[in-house]
Amino acid sequence: MNDEKILTMKAKFYSKALWGKRYNKKVIIKDTGRALGYFAKWSQSVYEIQISSEIINVDYLPDNVLVHELCHWWCFINKKPWMDHSKNFKAELKRISNYENDIYNVDNRYQPPDGLLQLVREFDRRKK
Ligand SMILES: [Zn+2]
Repeated sequence: MNDEKILTMKAKFYSKALWGKRYNKKVIIKDTGRALGYFAKWSQSVYEIQISSEIINVDYLPDNVLVHELCHWWCFINKKPWMDHSKNFKAELKRISNYENDIYNVDNRYQPPDGLLQLVREFDRRKK
């Protein structure tokens, strides 16, 4: 089960685990059109991560998208190139996740990579 409160807690936990810094904004669930998620920014200090309401109940997929969006956040707050196509973003995503799956090409039988599975399990353990 994922709701905005849980995804926001996950964002804090994942960002701290992956970069040693806590993401401190909200995670919003909404219709994001064709995208599975979106890093929406209005200024250097006003931004939020949005996750598509369509994927919210697919196991592990929202977590994968969340890590992807957090990677945008990390590049952005460090004033590095943060767009999907940028070399910097791609390299950072690969460095932290080593994900082999292209998250924009998944179906409902999404298979999470080991690193992501571990992160989700750590979060679930800490929650109890
Ligand atoms: Zn992206």
